[in-house]
Amino acid sequence: MEKQKQKRRRLLLMPSPLQGHVTPMLQLAHILHSNGFSITVIYTSSFTLPNLSSYPNFTFLSISDSLSELEASASTSDPVHLTRLLNVRCVEPLKQCLDTLLKKKKDGDDDRVACFIADAALHFTQSVCDGVKLPRLVLRTGGASSFLVFASFPLLRQEGYLPVQESRLEEPVVELPPLKVKDLPKIETRDPDAFYEFVVQFVEECKASSGVIWNSFEELESFALAKLRQLFSIPIYPIGPFHKHFPEGSTSSSLLTPDTSCISWLDKQEHNSVVYVSFGSIASITEAEFLEIAWGLANSMQPFLWVVRPGSIRGSEWLEPLPSGFMENLGGRGYIVKWAPQEQVLGHVAVGAFWTHNGWNSTLESICEGVPMICSPCFADQKVNAKYVSDVWRVGVKLENKLDREEIEKTIRNVMVGDEAKEIRDNVLDLKEKAKISLKEGGSSYCSLDGLVTDIFSLES
Ligand code: UDP
Repeated sequence: MEKQKQKRRRLLLMPSPLQGHVTPMLQLAHILHSNGFSITVIYTSSFTLPNLSSYPNFTFLSISDSLSELEASASTSDPVHLTRLLNVRCVEPLKQCLDTLLKKKKDGDDDRVACFIADAALHFTQSVCDGVKLPRLVLRTGGASSFLVFASFPLLRQEGYLPVQESRLEEPVVELPPLKVKDLPKIETRDPDAFYEFVVQFVEECKASSGVIWNSFEELESFALAKLRQLFSIPIYPIGPFHKHFPEGSTSSSLLTPDTSCISWLDKQEHNSVVYVSFGSIASITEAEFLEIAWGLANSMQPFLWVVRPGSIRGSEWLEPLPSGFMENLGGRGYIVKWAPQEQVLGHVAVGAFWTHNGWNSTLESICEGVPMICSPCFADQKVNAKYVSDVWRVGVKLENKLDREEIEKTIRNVMVGDEAKEIRDNVLDLKEKAKISLKEGGSSYCSLDGLVTDIFSLES
């Protein structure tokens, strides 16, 4: 009886169109759908969502974002600028969309809309939801520890840590231990002040929401979550890791097609021997950095699986800068793909380390598979994540300074062999276990999800 009643409530979910945001939003949609809700996903017209036919249980609605082809194609080179555009251009289309949806639903009692769940970056959705008296929950796709840093931006500016000055990089940020100035979020955007304003606004609109959902778990980020509960007077729901609510790969939502041939290559490698290298869906590197990585990997003598996304080497289409015969000379010890089935790769017994940019999804996926990390953070929250990986959870090491082949070779060895490597591996296996337990009946994420579902039913729209 209760379940039947639940089935009649619909949730409207709106992801930001970037890979690292779409994936957790669709995973959240699956989690809530399996808890009895109907799902409508609202997306913006310039971006495709992954293979809509793989989501037969969801309804998809597109709203106009009025982006030119040029503006949309620059989404990975300046995601902040893109998000700022969406926050302006989607206001009217979303208003119209909600008017239509809510009117239709009121005509019949079936499938009544319970609330709107928006990516935190789409802060404009708060005032649109307020306008139609629809409760809004927020999904923050990054970690709670980095969000605490974002929430401290006004304080960091007041204390002179922001904007970051090159001469102060090694100074500790005493208000946010163990961070140093060099760990503070930074982003390459055409207008750095705009990044500050954007962060302040998305934090404010999170505070104004009915609650924030996190793809994290209590045991991983207890300090930041406790702090956020003090700062925010709204509920905080850490219900992650999202992708572990389901069997491996069943909620995959890759925007690019993964090259699964790397799995048969991994099958031929020894246990814990392979370094998996990927810097996610946005980060780019220079040609010189690319060559240092290539030589560092080659000289490390470890087998490696390397994701080189087309366009991720500035000024090149794909692998042109690689010296001719480079891969052939390695005698099969290296494998390069354009995009990998990452969850499956990290879960493979051959993988012994993940050299990552520390996007939050990658960081969490690595922890959940018990894979030690080599950290090369690029921008935004990644530097904070890397600091936690190396200094707080001690599940990886940072590749500090500029990319240099000798440094790379040394760091790979430190993570793969020796006493430090063993300690790191033990730590990450311990966190992997804690993540698993958090999702089991009575575990922290399990209980938090229970609370979220109950709270959604009590929201009045
Ligand atoms: N990913 C993937 N194949 C790849 C590289 C990345 O499927 O070859 C996925 C990865 O599993 C993660 C997402 O892309 O879920 C990247 O998100 P993250 O937050 O780590 O970084 P971003 O791309 O947002 O910088």
